[in-house]
Parts: sequence; structure tokens; C-alpha cells
Amino acid sequence: MPLVRQRRHLNLRLPEPSVPKPLPLPPSSTAIAPADLEKLQVLGHGNGGTVYKVRHKRTGAVYALKVVHGDTDGASRQEVRREMEILQRTESPHVVEYHGFFEKPSGDVAILMEYMEVGTLETLLKSSGTFSEPQVASVAREVLSGLSYLHAHKIIHRDIKPSNLLVNRKMEVKIGDFGVSKVMCRTLDACNSYVGTCAYMSPERFDPDSYGGNYNGYASDIWSLGLTLFELYVGHFPFLPMGQSPDWPTLMCAICFGDPPTLPQTASQHFRSFISSCLIKDSTQRWTASQLLSHPFLATT
Ligand code: ATP
Ligand code: MG
Repeated sequence: MPLVRQRRHLNLRLPEPSVPKPLPLPPSSTAIAPADLEKLQVLGHGNGGTVYKVRHKRTGAVYALKVVHGDTDGASRQEVRREMEILQRTESPHVVEYHGFFEKPSGDVAILMEYMEVGTLETLLKSSGTFSEPQVASVAREVLSGLSYLHAHKIIHRDIKPSNLLVNRKMEVKIGDFGVSKVMCRTLDACNSYVGTCAYMSPERFDPDSYGGNYNGYASDIWSLGLTLFELYVGHFPFLPMGQSPDWPTLMCAICFGDPPTLPQTASQHFRSFISSCLIKDSTQRWTASQLLSHPFLATT
């Protein structure tokens, strides 16, 4: 059978040889290239990378650029890629906004994101002192709205702590640093890998058998948030006395075998109940983000 007839039968259209191939579209006016950006200052150093404040040379817009260099270990570069993949698919006023990803032949990788002028809750706690109950309630509302969004999209953050919650000039709090986050493939996908910051890790992440069986990870973000909010109110990590740095074996024993920390008597009844609902050791009994959003502490404070 002649070739042309065969193609007609399969309903394929041959390209016209006389028509030139269309040129690739020019980058859209919103796409940002690394050469468009100038570094203004270092905002912070993290695990294997540096975060810079950068300005777009043409538009003057300011962003944060997280760079991990090619000579850094592969795990850190993998974390930035993972963070990019998650930020790319999230769109929430409670999650730091994503603007682009760059990869150089040298192996350097970088994420461009929204610049959060005030920094993190950790820096705010150091510079402005402890938070009042209404201030804690306002942080709780914003972070829980973010977690409720992420969990509904099967994303677990896995590293909620004061230094990963960013604050902008309007004093809005947004979830950042998704380097160790995970997207669950199935609703009950078990998630037992050892990642995140140990201090804020829930009992079931050390010992899944004792604290909730087939641990799925969402409840662990709530535990970490409970410790974070507690810390904003008292000014130090709840499992340690003021000024003491962690001795990991002792800390791990306190998290797994001790009672959860409780707020001082100066805290209101609703606040104490709210924190206790975040710090229930059995992960299956711990409140979810959407349940906590209707807790009386948030309704009345
Ligand atoms: P760590 O291991 O300490 O969590 P990391 O490598 O995971 O660090 P990030 O937490 O993303 O990196 O960022 C490190 C620091 O850079 C933050 O603590 C914060 O001070 C600053 N930073 C990060 N992102 C932003 C942003 N979007 N706007 C302003 N500052 C930021
Ligand atoms: Mg961080």
C-alpha cells in the first residue's frame, strides 16, 4: 500500500514543507530570569542554603531568593526541588507565594518567592518579646487556615516551628520552608520517615506504635503548631526551661514518656484547653486543623 494512502487512513495530517516552523514564544512579561534580579542583602542562612532579598531590575519588585549551591550535598538541593514542587501547586493567602525556580548548569538551584518583610516568628519573638493571648490567637487562626488548606490537598508540612512561619509588613503570618514536606499519595499513606526538626516533632514520629498506630502525619503538624504557639506565649521552648539548649536524648524522653507541657495559670481557660487539644499525645485523638479553627479560644479571643 502506498505510504500516502496509509497516512490518510490513519487520519494524520502531514506538515506542509513550505510553512516554516513557528518560533518559540518569547518569555511572557511575567516570567523572571535570574539576570533580572539584583541581590540586596542576606536574609538568612538555612540548611545548606542562603536566602537573599533581591530586587527586579526593571519592575523594582522585591522578592526572597533561596539559593542552594551546586557544591552542597545532594540532599539540600533535593529539598529545594521538593519545596518548589509543593509551592508551585499551592495557592493560599496563608502559604508563602511562589514566583519561580532557577537551575544553573553548575548545579545551583534557587526558588524565588514572596518577600516577607518582618522575617519569622522566631525573630519577632526575639525582637518584640512574648505574644499576648489575642496575638497568639491571631497567629493560630492564620497558620491553621494554612494547615487546613494544605491537609485538604494532602500536603504535610513536617517542619512547623517559629523559624518557618514568616511575617509580612501587614503582620500576616504565612507558612514557609517546605523543604521536608510531603505530598501524600493516598489518604492513609503511612509517613514514618525521620525528617523535620526533632524538638518540635510529635511523640508518634519517634514512636508510631505507642501514639496512634498507622501514623499519617497530618496530626504531627498540629503538635508542632501547639508547641510553637505555646513558645510564643511563654518565650521559650515548652519542654525546656528558659535559656536551656536541648540535650536530645532528654528531650526525646520528655516528648515520648513525659506529660505534654501545660500553660502557666496566667493563661485563660480557653487558651489552656486549645493548647491541650493540640498536644494530645495520641495522634488519633488530637484535634484536626478544621476542628481547632472552631475551638472557643479562636471564637472568643
Ligand atoms: P532552616 O534549616 O533553618 O529551617 P532552611 O534552609 O530551611 O532553614 P528557610 O527556613 O527557608 O531555609 O530560610 C532561612 C531563613 O531565611 C529564615 O529563617 C528567614 O529568616 C529567611 N527567609 C526565608 N524565606 C524568607 C522570605 N520569603 N522572606 C523573608 N525572609 C525569608
Ligand atoms: Mg527553615
